Amino acid sequence: MTIEDLGTRRTYDVRTYGCQMNVHDSERISGLMEDAGYVRAADPEAADVVVFNTCAVRENADNRLYGNLGHLRPTKLKHPGMQIAVGGCLAQKDRGDIVKKAPWVDVVFGTHNIGSLPALLERARHNEAAEVEILESLEVFPSTLPTKRESTYAGWVSISVGCNNTCTFCIVPALRGKEKDRRPGEILAEVEALTKEGVLEVTLLGQNVNSYGAEFGDRLAFGKLLRATGDIEGLERVRFTSPHPKDFTDDVIAAMAETPNVCHSLHMPLQSGSDRVLKAMRRSYRQEKYLGIIEKVRAAMPDAAITTDIIVGFPGETEEDFEQTLEVVRRARFSSAFTFQYSKRPGTPAATMPEQVPKAVVQDRYNRLIALLEEITWAENKKLVGKKVEVLVAVGEGRKDERTGRMSGRARDGRLVHFATGDLAPRPGDIVETVLTYAAPHHLNADGEPLSHRRTRAGDAFEAGRTPKLKGVSLGLPTVGVPAPLPATSGGCAL
Ligand code: SF4
Repeated sequence: MTIEDLGTRRTYDVRTYGCQMNVHDSERISGLMEDAGYVRAADPEAADVVVFNTCAVRENADNRLYGNLGHLRPTKLKHPGMQIAVGGCLAQKDRGDIVKKAPWVDVVFGTHNIGSLPALLERARHNEAAEVEILESLEVFPSTLPTKRESTYAGWVSISVGCNNTCTFCIVPALRGKEKDRRPGEILAEVEALTKEGVLEVTLLGQNVNSYGAEFGDRLAFGKLLRATGDIEGLERVRFTSPHPKDFTDDVIAAMAETPNVCHSLHMPLQSGSDRVLKAMRRSYRQEKYLGIIEKVRAAMPDAAITTDIIVGFPGETEEDFEQTLEVVRRARFSSAFTFQYSKRPGTPAATMPEQVPKAVVQDRYNRLIALLEEITWAENKKLVGKKVEVLVAVGEGRKDERTGRMSGRARDGRLVHFATGDLAPRPGDIVETVLTYAAPHHLNADGEPLSHRRTRAGDAFEAGRTPKLKGVSLGLPTVGVPAPLPATSGGCAL
């Protein structure tokens, strides 16, 4: 019995946890479901199929999943034919245990076989038995799968999956495997296809974008890829995440500075400022190298906004180590930071390390770090008051705040801007130029009349309720192996 046999199209809802890579993969899951004849549920609580795309990075990731599955059980009992599927990193880690702990789950699929979901759902329904399928390595590049994008103006484009590093606190390599690089031509084709759809901003995605090309022997491939995006007509903003300080090379800084559509915003995970802790984390760089990169980036792009990730309370971290982290924060002047209290991740080397730091000490350090970061981000934001900025009006952030009459969006450096619209009626996806009038620690306001409003195709698409729906991008050649080399810097020739 297939979907069509039911006459009515079954509905689906995807619930995403974790990182941008999961957001990217969830767009593929939606694309697959729609390709298989499902429609997105207008009311997620009434969906025929609920798909959890899980994260395994945080300690409470498990509790959250099993908590949500527990909540869904009574709904399923009242909704005959309803199916529940669990995918993503936690599924890759827990596998069949998920069905043992929650026997009302119908399908468990991993990070390497997203494409199997529709077939697994059908098989589970036909056999009235749970289907668990986990692969040890990538079946097909998720980017080659159909996709249903969330945004009319911004797109995630993966350039590689997996990671070759072995940071001792991280479970990603165990769950997403070794790094596999997409061919540049395929990446650029996907970016071009998106731009043709009206998308203005693309974020290149990879666990470690700086090692892109290692698989096909071109250490300068990432810098070349950035330059190549510069030639794509209509593409106004290029961002990337996540770089790794150990592989961050000068050619990438030059490509950022010399390619007009590459935004001067850089997310550079620090994790710790202490060389001793960085060694224990197996991060393969030290404080001096990290600050050296920041200095070079600022020399090449004085307006660059730099953000970071910091873990507080890594096993063995002393007060002196923590002071080193604060020292780097003082010198790096981040525009914002993702901060984490270290939490044990079973299966990672750090989880069994001695000298786990007591919670109260971690909390105290965390509070001091937040206070310092806030002081600095606010001071850096205050320097921008009076400056003219270009804002890409964003959904969610883009709604009109009835109380203040402001809309919101992101400046080219990634900062969040709330702006008065005056008599204009910008739509998400449009571009507004305005002058900053007020700075807060985590956002900026522009309360004067906007200087200009550019209506874009992305704004038209938003107004028309259209989001890009792309068939998987593949040049029909074998997916893994040596790609056509990227022409040096002149572009024209892809996390
Ligand atoms: S670079 Fe380190 S932290 Fe990042 S995904 Fe790879 S192993 Fe994890």
